[in-house]
Amino acid sequence: MRTSEMLIPTLREVPAEAEVVSHKLLLRAGFIRKAASGVYTYLPLAQRVLRKIKNIVREEMDKQGGQELLMPIIQPAEMWLESGRWHVYGPELFRLKDRHNRDFCLGPTHEEVITLLMRGEIRSYKQMPQLLYQIQNKFRDERRPRFGLMRGREFIMKDLYSFDRDEAALDVSYQKMYEAYTNVFNRCGLKFRPVEADSGAIGGSTTHEFMVLAESGEAAILYCSQCDYAANVEKATSQPAAGLDPTKEQLALEEVSTPGQKTAEQVAAFFGVATSQIIKTMIYKTDKEFVAALVRGDRDVNEVKLLNTLGALNLELAEDADINRVTGAAAGYVGPVGLQNIRIVADPEVMAMVNAVAGANKTEAHFINVNPNRDFKPELVADIRLVKAGEPCPKCQAELLEARGIEVGQIFKLGTKYSEALGANFLDENGKEKPIVMGCYGIGISRTMAAAIEQNNDENGIIWPAAIAPFQAVVIPVSTKDAGQVQIAEQLYQELNQAGVETIIDDRAERPGVKFKDADLVGYPLRIVVGGKAVEEGVVEVRQRRSAATELIPVTEVKEQVK
Ligand code: ATP
Ligand code: MG
Ligand code: MG
Ligand code: MG
Repeated sequence: MRTSEMLIPTLREVPAEAEVVSHKLLLRAGFIRKAASGVYTYLPLAQRVLRKIKNIVREEMDKQGGQELLMPIIQPAEMWLESGRWHVYGPELFRLKDRHNRDFCLGPTHEEVITLLMRGEIRSYKQMPQLLYQIQNKFRDERRPRFGLMRGREFIMKDLYSFDRDEAALDVSYQKMYEAYTNVFNRCGLKFRPVEADSGAIGGSTTHEFMVLAESGEAAILYCSQCDYAANVEKATSQPAAGLDPTKEQLALEEVSTPGQKTAEQVAAFFGVATSQIIKTMIYKTDKEFVAALVRGDRDVNEVKLLNTLGALNLELAEDADINRVTGAAAGYVGPVGLQNIRIVADPEVMAMVNAVAGANKTEAHFINVNPNRDFKPELVADIRLVKAGEPCPKCQAELLEARGIEVGQIFKLGTKYSEALGANFLDENGKEKPIVMGCYGIGISRTMAAAIEQNNDENGIIWPAAIAPFQAVVIPVSTKDAGQVQIAEQLYQELNQAGVETIIDDRAERPGVKFKDADLVGYPLRIVVGGKAVEEGVVEVRQRRSAATELIPVTEVKEQVK
């Protein structure tokens, strides 16, 4: 490609609206332009980077047996009504109507579509495992779209779903994805940590977030100075209290029928759902800090620890949220979806903050001021306490350190949450019908591009890791009026491309300073300058963007050296 023919609209000025460095540089280096809040056009350079990230992702998914498919962006409301999420997903869901007044949404994620697909296709345990993925634009009407591609309302995601016969097989699929994700982010040249995004207190760790370490990260993570323990600050917890075995399911489940409590029938009638949908009660013992973590409101807390421990639950937290509303919303989310009511049991002081604990199937429709003992029988399931930086690692007792991270991916054991809700069953080897055991695994492709910049930049611009750079090298003739320089530059440009080094030539009739500045800003890993010395002595200047190391190399040897 030639810069004279390619749309690379670099800007000298730092755009005022951009707060984080990736947003600034993506705008300045001519990678993106805004169409609406949180909605962007990816210009040709960005598209090249995205294509590379997608290809790495595809290769690693395929290596693990992943099969690429493509699901619809437009999803009928019926699917979401069936799973129970239509009324509880909240304002993050882009909803629309067709000309017949039928409800649809733009897919923020695809559990419904794929579970219903597999309900129709999977009959027997012999047909599993299946790992299916797509790379597609996702839509989430984020409360606060910001930081450019970091938190968009339309963004690119790879989402894979696993379908297995039992928990043991799910463990294998999960492990495959853990490995694939590790490979993806290593290959993208990123410094990252897989962190436990689960408290680990209920049923062990069932989800990991992959965090690119960067100052601008929205998440605080704790990691061990010695072992591989790492967890979200809001999720890093001490071990369950002695004597409790939270993995024992029966501890967590209880019919809502104790005298004096709301009965399952009453609850069901109140919410207008079938009694069978309100059968489970989960009770936590927790501390004040833990509850406070639920309400930390400067960002959307849709992966709050408490909820994550219950399953893949998202929660949209209102700007002016208070604890009553949060726990209410939490319960509201869980009510019809997870078929569970959350009950939070804690110190009297905390309990005074936490009133709303019963389920609901629409926003703001939940019991408030439900009291333990009066309205239900509290049962201790887990004792959760947050740990902090400086404290001993829950795994090895060494010191915990704190860092900031950007969530670029998440892997999650869903279990039978969706297959049960949507009736996706199979026959096991004894001919017994069972719900499919599922997992879901997402990578933010466009966010990964931004995260790479957050981690790789200097005052002059982007420094692309080679594997995802839009071009590996730029050839710059110092003077486009000098026929000798132009000829050598053109020759190098051809040779390098033929040798498989993706090279762009800056053939614009601009001053050399302008071209050098643009080369640094765009962030090509190598800059090859063809000046007077090329014509007189047959050498060109090859400069590494990252180290700024510069070498004079004979024109005849450039190809071999940079390949
Ligand atoms: P966050 O906590 O940042 O809101 P999430 O946990 O809601 O993200 P997931 O549902 O786990 O996101 O989606 C999988 C991946 O998609 C995330 O790990 C992230 O990389 C990416 N992603 C999620 N929301 C956005 C967004 N609004 N803009 C860009 N990428 C996103
Ligand atoms: Mg989110
Ligand atoms: Mg998250
Ligand atoms: Mg996530």
